[in-house]
Amino acid sequence: MNVVKTSKKPVIQLKGLCKSFDGKQIITGLDLDVNDGEFLTILGPSGCGKTTVLRLIAGFETADDGQITIANKDVTDIPAEQRLVNTVFQSYALFPHMTVFENVAFGLRMQKVPSSDIEPRVMEALRMVQLDKFAPRKPHQLSGGQQQRVAIARAVVNKPKVLLLDESLSALDYKLRKQMQLELKQLQRKLGITFIFVTHDQEEALSMSDRIIVMRDGYVEQDGSPREIYEEPTNLFVAHFIGEINVFDAIVKERLDSKRIMADVEGRHSLIHCDLDVAIGDKVKVLLRPEDIRIEEIHNGDHTTGILGKVKERTYKGMTLDSVVQLDSGKSVMVSEFFNEDDPDVDHSLDQKVAITWVESWEVVLADE
Ligand code: ATP
Repeated sequence: MNVVKTSKKPVIQLKGLCKSFDGKQIITGLDLDVNDGEFLTILGPSGCGKTTVLRLIAGFETADDGQITIANKDVTDIPAEQRLVNTVFQSYALFPHMTVFENVAFGLRMQKVPSSDIEPRVMEALRMVQLDKFAPRKPHQLSGGQQQRVAIARAVVNKPKVLLLDESLSALDYKLRKQMQLELKQLQRKLGITFIFVTHDQEEALSMSDRIIVMRDGYVEQDGSPREIYEEPTNLFVAHFIGEINVFDAIVKERLDSKRIMADVEGRHSLIHCDLDVAIGDKVKVLLRPEDIRIEEIHNGDHTTGILGKVKERTYKGMTLDSVVQLDSGKSVMVSEFFNEDDPDVDHSLDQKVAITWVESWEVVLADE
């Protein structure tokens, strides 16, 4: 069972949720609480079951087993239209023959909201996404980003408790996507609606969410804040899925105190922060993000406490200069250093003899699996 504990008030509770397609188990006993007003992202590789979780919450799929509660009401057997959730799809799904106004008004008309209430509510929703001036236009007269905003206005106009967003920004180009990420986050804060956002894009998840659920094969691998997920991954899958990471095999040499060990990392005795229950001789994995590693240039006669190697590749990335250092053992290590034209130390030449070091306590240690 994947148990996700929260201290705040949950608006959605999934208990022991199971779903199979064609005899194949896709979601296996998923337990998840989503807090009121939270921006929660479900992140995971293609096919891990993210959309299935969203469709189960929305009521577009029926669970084989388990329970779904929305705002304290068991909705497991209640049809989609009676759940207090709306969904924004990747494809926007706007009605092409209707104006922007009518697209947003559609749901309210279906709910038989009095027509005198419809106009102010639609215009309020359009103002929120800065499209009130576009109310008379048809979808084909809008850019992709504007169409996406109409889809969002349409989804929030009837003030749902929860908004489900399925890869909602993936059709947009990079710049627009960045802009919409910011706008969506601001809109969510303004509305105070709970957002459940599905994506396979790590950067998008890190920059938008209050909390991230990392999924693999229908299971939750980690549940935490963006910072926890990035800085303290609890296993190799999460560590690799969220950004670049270097993994070193190490052997425990000495236990210094409850929080620190000495370990042999690539032949170097290193002080490592580790509160795992490990004994001398145990194998562990030491994980370091590229930006946590430093490169020292080594010239004849220099002494270093670092691990020796040579710079084999350099890539200028604007803000950073990324290097691949091949250690004397043959292992390749990725290093990302902030680039400053006035700091020649960062601009290492190819085949330069170097040593890598890292900032103590920034490493993550995992038991050898
Ligand atoms: P992606 O990021 O590619 O959208 P995902 O994590 O959202 O992937 P799902 O769409 O939930 O994954 O699909 C999970 C698995 O369930 C996949 O193997 C998919 O083929 C299968 N699946 C989903 N819906 C159905 C269906 N209606 N019938 C049969 N199999 C399905």
